[in-house]
Amino acid sequence: MSQTPSEVWKNCLSFLKDNIQSQAYKTWFEPIIPVKLNDNVLSIQVPSKFFYEWLEEHYVKILRLALTKELGPQAKLVYIIKMENTFGNKMPFTEKIPSSSSSSIKSQSIDSPFSSFASELKNPFVIPGIRNLQIESQLNPNYTFENFLEGDSNRLARSAGIAVSNKPGGTSFNPLLIYGGVGLGKTHLAHAIGVDVKQKYPDKTILYISAEKFTQQYVDSVKKNTRNDFIHFYQLIDNLIVDDVQFLSGKSGTQDVFFHIFNHLHQNGRQVILTSDKAPIDMQDIEQRLLSRFKWGLSAELQNPNYETRLSILKNKLYRDGVEIQDEIVEYVAKNINSNVRELEGAIISLIAQSSFNNAEINIELAKDVINKFVKNNRREVSIDYIQKVVSDYFQMDIQTLQSKTRKRHIVQARQIAMYFAKKFTKASLASIGTQIGRRDHATVLHACKTVDNLSFTDKQFRKYVEDLNQKLSN
Ligand code: ADP
Ligand code: MG
Repeated sequence: MSQTPSEVWKNCLSFLKDNIQSQAYKTWFEPIIPVKLNDNVLSIQVPSKFFYEWLEEHYVKILRLALTKELGPQAKLVYIIKMENTFGNKMPFTEKIPSSSSSSIKSQSIDSPFSSFASELKNPFVIPGIRNLQIESQLNPNYTFENFLEGDSNRLARSAGIAVSNKPGGTSFNPLLIYGGVGLGKTHLAHAIGVDVKQKYPDKTILYISAEKFTQQYVDSVKKNTRNDFIHFYQLIDNLIVDDVQFLSGKSGTQDVFFHIFNHLHQNGRQVILTSDKAPIDMQDIEQRLLSRFKWGLSAELQNPNYETRLSILKNKLYRDGVEIQDEIVEYVAKNINSNVRELEGAIISLIAQSSFNNAEINIELAKDVINKFVKNNRREVSIDYIQKVVSDYFQMDIQTLQSKTRKRHIVQARQIAMYFAKKFTKASLASIGTQIGRRDHATVLHACKTVDNLSFTDKQFRKYVEDLNQKLSN
């Protein structure tokens, strides 16, 4: 006499219903569809990855209990996540919950995102006395889509931004995470989305905030004992834009509060837009549960613009500023400044400044002069982060693998090569290199440098790796 999945699930539900709050039951259990039952394995379909993670985080114990009651101690649960993710490739996939009962579940109370708002809200932007909460968006109206020029380097991020601003909260790009190096337009694009939403949906509350300021506000609120007001305030926002979330690294209190705010907003269909100088996979000292949230929506990279894009950005800027410069000179600048857009703009501004100080015409000689100085002063030091990224990309592994404790030969070699280049290309001490590359000590780094030297002599294949990487890193 075999049971059907629906019967089993129905019994589980009645047990769950008795044991959790009805609001939570409705939200988290009613939408679940039982799909399959094979021996003692029940497969249930959940609407999203978010759902799955939430269940895992908050209800795994009680779920296991309910299931064990129904199917015995060998009971297992399989989640089928209906993914309607990026670009509509509807790929259902399955994930099993950890079958051992040791799955760590934090036992702290569930800070329910459904708790009703406190009736009095304090705005951390401080407009005392205003009852009818008005939130200044903190947006910069000069950063728009129109003046964010499109190119191969930013097409994905820019179009995702436009999609989001047309239907905030209504696309699968939630959160939208825009990442890329300095000066590539993250802040500009983030504002542009906000500015556009504001225009299209005047009733929505939008807030732009840097992660740094968010952190300050949070710390203040803890000092003043207004942490709840802080949270409630942020939970009111329809479109929250947080710039430079890498700033939250290592700040666990702020991460925790952000996690709750994020969940609340996401759960209620509000839009979250984030920027970061790194891809989620490369972010360090950010809690796993928060990182996994960052990955739910779309991570879109801003890359270095190519020559054509640089040229059109420059021309557009000059045009808007009403400055005329010969094409030849603009082309020269676009060709020679290829690091990022901020430097590109900086170079052209210093060119214009030079010419007006000296009362000289902007000619190609002046341009060469200015640009040469500019490039020299701005030659970037390669960072250890960057070295790890280049090395791990080269060996097709991710940075976590590179840093891991494993003794697998090819991973050890990649790590040693990263250390070797960190020594060669940065001014960092052996100890600091060790800390940054997987928390090793200085002796390990020293040993790595010697090993790489030796192997480059004796092993031809190895030498090739080192040469390739040397070239990549010297560009
Ligand atoms: P990030 O936040 O990534 O460091 P910003 O958004 O501050 O970079 O951009 C640096 C400068 O470059 C800003 O003045 C911005 O307007 C400009 N900029 C970046 N990308 C573009 C683009 N595609 N078109 C026009 N201006 C751009
Ligand atoms: Mg920025």
